[in-house]
Amino acid sequence: WNKISDNTKKLVENLQTENTLYLSRLITLIESTRDDHQEQARMVVSYLLQRSKENNTQYKSFRIGISGPPGAGKSTFIEAFGKHLTSLNHKVAVLAIDPSSVRSGGSVLGDKTRMVELSVDPNAYVRPSSTRGSLGGICKSTSDTIVLCESAGFDVVLVETVGVGQSEVSIDEMIDIFVLLVPPANGDELQGLKKGIMESADLIVVNKADGELLPKARFTVSEYMSALKLQRPKSENWKATVISCSSLSKEGIDNVWNMMMKYKDTMLKCGEFKYKRSLQKETFMKKLIDDEIVQKLWADPNVQRLLPSLEAQVREGNISPSLASINIINEFLKDKKD
Ligand code: GDP
Repeated sequence: WNKISDNTKKLVENLQTENTLYLSRLITLIESTRDDHQEQARMVVSYLLQRSKENNTQYKSFRIGISGPPGAGKSTFIEAFGKHLTSLNHKVAVLAIDPSSVRSGGSVLGDKTRMVELSVDPNAYVRPSSTRGSLGGICKSTSDTIVLCESAGFDVVLVETVGVGQSEVSIDEMIDIFVLLVPPANGDELQGLKKGIMESADLIVVNKADGELLPKARFTVSEYMSALKLQRPKSENWKATVISCSSLSKEGIDNVWNMMMKYKDTMLKCGEFKYKRSLQKETFMKKLIDDEIVQKLWADPNVQRLLPSLEAQVREGNISPSLASINIINEFLKDKKD
């Protein structure tokens, strides 16, 4: 705490006030690429983690990952679901990871037409996805952003991702429950379903179960049910299941929340909830080390000097890739060995 600057301290002290401006400022600090900002951000997050541990509030929150193909109705669902939660007196934060926006320069949640009602709800906080920085950078900061939102009093954190499967960083590593939102589909469309995504789902929600789509939605539920039966369960304490809802008519939205609560209760009781979170933190630490070391290595002047000639020799076949790689690594470690 002593190492945190007075300006940043002020933000932390005001974090729990109604005004989410302080939260936004702190998130910006976390997302900043400036070294001094990152140092402050690290200190703040560590302080907040300690504080929630001391207050015994660290497992009060629920981190929900929501993913699904474009057009499944994710933003419509999050709007309806978020409103349902705030009506139950929960405070809801919505974050987004959009791997595609890094390339296209667009932003999922930045689009103002999305989640209009939730955005103005005093008990909700909708954070547009950051378009700056690398994919790794965005996902790296998301984990810390979740801690900030929780410290600001948001007890439900929704993390939306698009384009799962393409991203090497899995949101499964920072959330408590992974929800796959899918539209009603016929047999052929279901064939194309990515197996990997289904395997990571704790709950599958078939959206758009309304009007003319209702029979198709029912069919989709039973198809997913049978598909789930064929795969190995992700956890021995929880069987993934499939339910349907309509984000337009709001039918079944309460059911989705009840099912999620059932999941949380079950996982808390058997200890897997806490275990998963501690494992996530450990894994994340290791990933950050990997990331940092690799960046430092490529940026190292000695490495940069040696690299072009070694690359040429590898291409020409004068030296094996494995020997060249060891030379590079030794070059990087050269003046660091003592
Ligand atoms: P996203 O790309 O997954 O975020 O999908 P959107 O939320 O933008 O929704 C895509 C389209 O599906 C929009 O035209 C929505 O109005 C429509 N949609 C979303 N939820 C429902 C629903 O529950 N029922 C019906 N009939 N349409 C829906």
